[in-house]
Amino acid sequence: MIDTDVLVIGAGPTGLFCVHQLGIIGLKCEVVDNLDKIGGQCIELYPDKPIYDIPAIPVCTGEELTNNLIKQIKPFKTNFHLSDRVEEVKKNENNWIIKTSKGKEFKTTSIVVAGGVGSFEPRKFSLKGCEKFEEKKIFYSVKNKTIFENKTVSIFGGGDSALDWAIELSANSKVHLIHRRDEFRGAQASFDKVKKLSKKGKIELFTKYQLSSVKGDKKIESIDIKHDEGGIKNIETDYLLGFFGLIMKLGPIANWGLNLDKKHIPVNTENFETNQKGIFAIGDICMYLGKLKLILSGFHEGALAARGCFKYAKPDEKLRFEFSTTSKSVHERLGVKK
Ligand SMILES: Cc1cc2nc3c(=O)[nH]c(=O)nc-3n(C[C@H](O)[C@H](O)[C@H](O)COP(=O)(O)OP(=O)(O)OC[C@H]3O[C@@H](n4cnc5c(N)ncnc54)[C@H](O)[C@@H]3O)c2cc1C
Repeated sequence: MIDTDVLVIGAGPTGLFCVHQLGIIGLKCEVVDNLDKIGGQCIELYPDKPIYDIPAIPVCTGEELTNNLIKQIKPFKTNFHLSDRVEEVKKNENNWIIKTSKGKEFKTTSIVVAGGVGSFEPRKFSLKGCEKFEEKKIFYSVKNKTIFENKTVSIFGGGDSALDWAIELSANSKVHLIHRRDEFRGAQASFDKVKKLSKKGKIELFTKYQLSSVKGDKKIESIDIKHDEGGIKNIETDYLLGFFGLIMKLGPIANWGLNLDKKHIPVNTENFETNQKGIFAIGDICMYLGKLKLILSGFHEGALAARGCFKYAKPDEKLRFEFSTTSKSVHERLGVKK
């Protein structure tokens, strides 16, 4: 059981800045995110796109913003629990007990839900029966590429992930790249490379095909793929990789006893607390009159929620308002050398 003052759910820009605000007022926190990397929408959906409305930063990309937020919280040495999803939130006397999909447990006095539009999840094969092979023979991301060595891998998708993994795995595996259209969405340079590898026989390319059946019981023996115009091909394969992009699902947040308005959590704008005492909601997931779904609003919401957490973590102490320019304790927490 990990004991902490605050559990932050979501490592998007809002959750990250909230970590900073918790840190400078002396609260410990841990962060859980379903994604395998830090940054939320900024890193998953638009790492290279320029953002023009972050105060005092005329322009930065989604990735640059994330990197700077990470740099800003470095002094607090916060633990991030990535590729893990908060599933269960339960009250136990004055604490909240939180369980994740990987079986981790946290005990905390407050929770900050910075869950954006919910957790990002891979879009999966729609064919019935695929679920039983998931995480064994069918994958939607690659965590350990060595398992594919000297095996046959059928990669489905037309974006960058499909192209990049087809190129990468073709060095040590037999690769089929299967896409339901002729055109690929991924980078032209990657597609050109795939075409070259296909000419050399390193990648077998199937366009206008979709998965129509998976044969095998414990392991996959072969798959059928169906052409747009009707023909079916059977190919032997050991593994399937599906790269169809991500969908955003509110997921388990809906089961934590929080009031919801459509897919948003109504909050009190004094401290961004929800209907549950000690659970705060900030960023895209929270809702109040006049809410702007912008990163700058999430920063403000995180600052107030952090102060709201203080009274639960340290009920006998009074939080003094201090400026970061002049506060000795803030400087100590940030490790500022004078
Ligand atoms: C293309 C695009 C361009 C944009 N441009 C701008 C712009 O120029 N300026 C601007 O201000 N805003 C912009 N935005 C909006 C901005 O990105 C969002 O407002 C911001 O990302 C919200 O931050 P957040 O931290 O609230 O949520 P998110 O960034 O969505 O992060 C939430 C995180 O919570 C995680 N999560 C959810 N549920 C769970 C759970 N149960 N367990 C574990 N983890 C969970 C998710 O995996 C996700 O990583 C843009 C958005 C897009 C898509």
